[in-house]
Amino acid sequence: MYKNVAKLKSLITNPKRVVITTHRGPDGDAMGSSLAMFHLLNQFGHSVNIITPNDYASFLHWMPGNENVLIYEGNEKEADKITQDAELIFLMDFSNISRVCNFAETINEVKAVKILIDHHQDPDLSIANIVFSDTQACSTAQLVYELIEAMQLSKYLNKVIAECLYVGIMTDTGSFKYSSTSAKTHHIIAELIALGVENSKIHDLIYDNSSANRMRLLGYCLNNKLLLYPENNSAVISLTAEELERFKFEKGDTEGFVNYPLAIKGIKFAIFIAEKDGVVKLSLRSKGNFKVNKIANKYFNGGGHMNASGGCSQVSVNETIKLVEEIINKYKKELTN
Ligand code: 5GP
Ligand code: MN
Repeated sequence: MYKNVAKLKSLITNPKRVVITTHRGPDGDAMGSSLAMFHLLNQFGHSVNIITPNDYASFLHWMPGNENVLIYEGNEKEADKITQDAELIFLMDFSNISRVCNFAETINEVKAVKILIDHHQDPDLSIANIVFSDTQACSTAQLVYELIEAMQLSKYLNKVIAECLYVGIMTDTGSFKYSSTSAKTHHIIAELIALGVENSKIHDLIYDNSSANRMRLLGYCLNNKLLLYPENNSAVISLTAEELERFKFEKGDTEGFVNYPLAIKGIKFAIFIAEKDGVVKLSLRSKGNFKVNKIANKYFNGGGHMNASGGCSQVSVNETIKLVEEIINKYKKELTN
């Protein structure tokens, strides 16, 4: 760890051509940790490009530095050229190269030094030359803060970096409520607020920035689409492409929907299924010891964390519901103990 910290410090204190990338469907932590790294590196005279595999929710577009993000989808040639030219590539908030989708081939073939900063389970260590992986950490943003501290570069922290890190930690901890939120997390948050973060403004920009359509879609999900399996402490919500279209779905609109069933007394396992861009995507969440990353990995070619995972299904939404019902029955013992 210390050797890697020293190596990273020597790499970032000399100007280089740098690419920062993160996983497909970037969330608050993916964008927060990537943009924080962008603002840190800029202070050392690097030429820094952030490339995301695809676009992300509009409630993240206000983040400082967002205008510098290049989206791989639709800009493949330009993004490939920048990446082929890079000397350093930061891989933020993912543990398997498949999570950058079509961008993976270019990243795999370039010779640049690759640095992974991540908190997902079972990292594929072969994807980077230098790995900072802490699967206990609540967020990649927290790891970025800890790394800046470990490199003794805290004097480079500023309000802009603090805002980005705050978004990452806040979103990945469910606003500081998940069990991954530690005393250290709260200490870091205190430091970020001391650096000028207006915490309630950021909560507002992320959580109280929905369209009326999104709120109506949420109402529809809870009123019409909630399937409850109380005997197995589980719940499912699903949306077809047609339903999403009916509510004029925009990227990010269903973010967080999977958590609502967990607010029902007794529910420990929640599954949200949605058909987007021709793909049936699943979000899995649990409370307690039920490991949803195992389910995501075994049945849905996915993964993630013990209590928050995702994956894809190869069959229709309705067939996916049936498959999920079989899984819920199969795991009855774990779900009801
Ligand atoms: P979400 O349900 O919010 O899309 O994702 C929850 C968590 O699961 C995230 O931390 C994300 O990293 C992980 N995840 C989501 N989709 C996939 C996937 O397709 N593959 C893998 N390996 N992880 C995923
Ligand atoms: Mn994360």
